[in-house]
Amino acid sequence: MRVDGVELLDFAGNDYLGLSADAALRGAWSAAATAGVGAGASHLVSGHHASHARLERYLAEWLGAPRALLLGSGYAANLAVLQALLGADDTCVQDRLNHASLIDGARLAGCRLLRYPHADVAAAERQLARVAGGLALLATDGVFSMDGDLAPLAELATLARRHAALLYVDEAHALGVLGPHGAGSVAAAGLDHRDVSLRLCTLGKAIGGYGAVLVGDGDLIEYLLQTARPYIYTTALPPALAETLCVAVERARDGDSLRAQLYAHIERFRVGAERLGLPLLSSCTPIQPLLLGDNARTVAVAEALRARGFWVGAIRPPTVPVGRARLRITLSAAHTGDQVEALLAALAAVCHAH
Ligand SMILES: *Cc1c(COP(=O)(O)O)cnc(C)c1O
Repeated sequence: MRVDGVELLDFAGNDYLGLSADAALRGAWSAAATAGVGAGASHLVSGHHASHARLERYLAEWLGAPRALLLGSGYAANLAVLQALLGADDTCVQDRLNHASLIDGARLAGCRLLRYPHADVAAAERQLARVAGGLALLATDGVFSMDGDLAPLAELATLARRHAALLYVDEAHALGVLGPHGAGSVAAAGLDHRDVSLRLCTLGKAIGGYGAVLVGDGDLIEYLLQTARPYIYTTALPPALAETLCVAVERARDGDSLRAQLYAHIERFRVGAERLGLPLLSSCTPIQPLLLGDNARTVAVAEALRARGFWVGAIRPPTVPVGRARLRITLSAAHTGDQVEALLAALAAVCHAH
């Protein structure tokens, strides 16, 4: 990236497969844009174009779900699901490190929100056991956005079944990255739409574009289409973008060589960081946080890296708990092995100096 005239290597973004600047996607967008730009209306009025319908079909097929529903963004989709499904008599049980949009969705729904310590299955079960009546929805990130670790999905699916709760998994950082053909964390855990009634997949991370899709049970999707206000009362995505995203879905689904490249970088980074004694968190995904703890030190290290030509995220409270500030380093198939080595060399220099 070029920032204020200075070239920097981007180790902060979520473009895990490098698709945001992919030649096939750029070509598809240019071609599609010749037919027009805006959708012109919301989906239920007259804004639902053939390209939206095709994108929904592609995603449902790829992810092995009966039906899909396209939304403006992942943030809006999480508000949509929780607002539409939950009311004052219902309960949402959530991992403490879930994404902010899941917390905001529960607030908007006005439901009871019960959180459990990160990835603690026994504590999740205790919270589910407190549900007295109404609907119980168990919501978790599949890959946690600031830690890079995985939710214990197989165990949570068993709990959800035992307590008749609806399991909702946010695949934002897993889609395109984990599982067979990049189908995400649910697929990687050997689960499918019968175990996880509803999944959120964002299209702005590994898919390289913008937007989001809910995939799941057909009746549930139909109910959301009829009732979810963040779906109903907003303009549909530009159809040219939907057209482009159809190509992006193919590139991600057929992207095993990109994933191989990405996983080689993850391995190289972890081995190198361990050798340097850097405070790595345990993560097998492209999100590789270095836990520094102190806010000021985290900012100082990020600034020193920037001076050496590397952009990494300095993540501080309230995005992460107090005392757990970190560098959020992310890897992409678009990096080269040499770039990963260069980052390691810079980290060795700046971490020890700060
Ligand atoms: C990024 C993110 C979202 C929001 O998705 P957008 O499409 O960027 O609005 C939702 N959930 C998680 C876990 C995320 O990381």
